[in-house]
Amino acid sequence: MTGTTAEWEYAPAPESTKVEIKPQYGLFIDGAFRPAKAGKTFETINPANESVLSTIAQAEAIDVNLAVASARRALKGWRRAPALERAKYLYRIARRIQERARELAVLETMDNGKPIRETRDEDIPLAAAHFFHHAGWCDKLRWACPTADGSVPEPVGVCGQIIPWNFPLLMAAWKIAPALACGNTVVLKPAETTSLTALRLAEILQEVDLPPGVVNIITGAGETGRELVAHGDVDKIAFTGSTEVGRAIASTVAGTKKRLTLELGGKSPNIIFADAAIDQAVEGVVSAIWANQGQVCCAGSRLIVEESVADEVIEKLRLRMRSLRVGDPLDKNTDVGAINSRAQLTRIERYIKIGVDEGAQHHEVCDAALPAKGFWCRPCFFTGVQPAHTIAREEIFGPVLVVMTFRTPDEAVARANNTQYGLSAGIWTSRGSKAYEVARQIKAGVIWCNTFNQFDPAAPFGGYRESGFGREGGRSGLSAYLA
Ligand code: NAD
Repeated sequence: MTGTTAEWEYAPAPESTKVEIKPQYGLFIDGAFRPAKAGKTFETINPANESVLSTIAQAEAIDVNLAVASARRALKGWRRAPALERAKYLYRIARRIQERARELAVLETMDNGKPIRETRDEDIPLAAAHFFHHAGWCDKLRWACPTADGSVPEPVGVCGQIIPWNFPLLMAAWKIAPALACGNTVVLKPAETTSLTALRLAEILQEVDLPPGVVNIITGAGETGRELVAHGDVDKIAFTGSTEVGRAIASTVAGTKKRLTLELGGKSPNIIFADAAIDQAVEGVVSAIWANQGQVCCAGSRLIVEESVADEVIEKLRLRMRSLRVGDPLDKNTDVGAINSRAQLTRIERYIKIGVDEGAQHHEVCDAALPAKGFWCRPCFFTGVQPAHTIAREEIFGPVLVVMTFRTPDEAVARANNTQYGLSAGIWTSRGSKAYEVARQIKAGVIWCNTFNQFDPAAPFGGYRESGFGREGGRSGLSAYLA
């Protein structure tokens, strides 16, 4: 062991891959797995080695009809079930997720590419926490969303829920737990590259005896999602994904009676003032942009540093970047795993090239070899970035940070708000008054001070402007599922 952490030798610490993955998965409709009516399937692969993990049913219009009809039938009993009965199921689901946590973490890492440290310590525990939290709300809806006459508010009905691939099980929990707590039934569509943990969740729903039809899970790509959004018997659409698809969904739903919530993209600022604890702030930058390979909607992808400490921050960031270990996501030493798909890798590489072509300086540590197979992108950052640069404006959704500087708090706020998005922001300062003053002026749904990417089921999360509307989590999140 010599020199910096980057030169340390680590013994490999691979997590066992002994989890059951069936060669084929059907659609989960009316409490049972069944093949798609037309028999179509697609493959899901491990992005860290490109091996095929399983073959999955591809739902078409006729399957979407069956799933929605099943949710409609189940709604009658579920919305009238005693609140504590609904809570009982949510608690059971939460406990079963905890009991099967290792298996779910391994499955998520294999299907998504994110490091096992993250799935084990964040995704899966938070998914369980969402079910626990919402179990507690079932008999308190009267206080969550008060009605004029003091009666218990009614559920919205059948909810179509569409989720992305960056936090597959966690996003499923964010969607399903509040919907069920409020007495709704669900048709959930996971992203096409990461269906496995949603399907394992379906097995858990069977194990806990959730009444058939209360949750249906249909797999497929954008076309399946489109069918669900356009379905005439769905009362609400909850979508998490890109702003582009969110726009298309909003125009399909416009003019119908469907309720809609959209959790979309972001280009979030992370502001470091000169009076901040710099080492702590640099750690915050690392987690803000390089966790989950930067494939995080609220990633702090624009670092905005006070000019007087910019050199120090950049130097410390470069040093810290050297110590990040990129590679096998199942190794417990790994900090940065695989990019979720070839398409996403191509998109990230295109943005890196644009950044270089536009004249920004690209910083990357390239001394460690990457695995021969799979989709890999080393963490990097750009300096010399102007607000007009494409990489400063567009969501890259990868481990690519842009660094800009400011001289006054007003300039920091102006830089932070210079975006069409408004999902999250970070503020690093040792002065509480400055943190409040700056936070008050930033247009973002979630603002962290002296930390980043902290999530709690009790805290509402959601966007502003082109990052969407509606909140998930806490009391505010429940109102989206109550009529
Ligand atoms: P995406 O929009 O391509 O896909 C999201 C989901 O929508 C997938 O299940 C996909 O199959 C489905 N879909 C695609 N086209 C559709 C259509 N026309 N109609 C209905 N459904 C359709 O996004 P992605 O690439 O999977 O995820 C990355 C994006 O998600 C990023 O922009 C990220 O910022 C955003 N995101 C936002 C949040 C949030 O809470 N705001 C959280 C996670 C990810």
